[in-house]
Amino acid sequence: MIELKGKPVADFIYQQIETKLEKWSEHKWARPHLTVILVGADPASQVYVQHKQKACEKLGFKSTLIQLPDSISEKDLTEKLQYLNNDPSVDAILMQLPLPAHLPTKKMSDLIAANKDADALTSSSLGLLVTAQQMVASCTPSGIMEILKFYGLDVAHKNVLVIGRSLIVGFPLFHLLNQKNATVTLAHSKTQNLKLLIKEFDFVFVAIGKAQYFKASDFKKGAVVIDVGMHRLESGLVGDVQAEGAVGHLSALTPVPGGVGPTTIALLMSNTFKLAEKSRMAPS
Ligand code: NAP
Repeated sequence: MIELKGKPVADFIYQQIETKLEKWSEHKWARPHLTVILVGADPASQVYVQHKQKACEKLGFKSTLIQLPDSISEKDLTEKLQYLNNDPSVDAILMQLPLPAHLPTKKMSDLIAANKDADALTSSSLGLLVTAQQMVASCTPSGIMEILKFYGLDVAHKNVLVIGRSLIVGFPLFHLLNQKNATVTLAHSKTQNLKLLIKEFDFVFVAIGKAQYFKASDFKKGAVVIDVGMHRLESGLVGDVQAEGAVGHLSALTPVPGGVGPTTIALLMSNTFKLAEKSRMAPS
């Protein structure tokens, strides 16, 4: 079984960005600037944000972290986002999710200007994806597409199954796979007989947010399984799939940790770079 590690994929993406940045020096362009908004003090979100800041440092991007109290009102967060949208020094904005329960996530995300939407989560970014016109797509599904490319796993003409339809993972992944000419089935919590259905697919992408929900033997023998799940248990980080029993049954599996996670951050850097480059190239 091939372990589809994310770090070599992420390193490859970082190298590509560094090469492109060399040309930026010739233009004397300011380095890309990512601003991350963190509302509240969710420990997991704090860790993810630190990783994002480290990645910015590694590439020489400017990164700003705006920490806001979890009591912040919808009005104040709206004003903060509008301020950042209008700040010409900011190239990309990422609002770390989840937001506290009193804030309407979709409405708040939709306030991010389309030309600064680093995780491509706004309704206008998703519209561009659905019509295959996107310049950037959501980081996690885009990172998964890079894993497939890096390991030479071609989904064209294949029947593939995505389990989970969130706007941040399953839904954009469905469209990215469709754009690569896979025939995509999208399953979710209301799908009937999922455990029977799953056995029919050579590629399965699991993003349900339930720790170790699937066993390796639930999948068809020889299947490629991409496990997006990420759960912090006392025993450590685990995914939505139990890795035990995968060797000898699956042909490839992303490890957790070390699979999809590193590529998500690399794609955030890549998206920030692309948004910044577009703004540098725009006629002033
Ligand atoms: P989410 O918003 O909770 O969405 C979960 C999706 O799974 C929903 O569409 C839900 O269906 C479906 N689902 C739930 N239980 C199911 C079941 N038993 N059978 C079939 N479908 C089921 O989660 P998310 O944000 O997409 O995240 C999914 C997982 O990926 C989480 O573990 C998260 O931590 C992880 N994640 C990892 C990264 C990374 O960088 N590695 C990034 C993002 C997310 P309904 O729509 O019907 O409710």
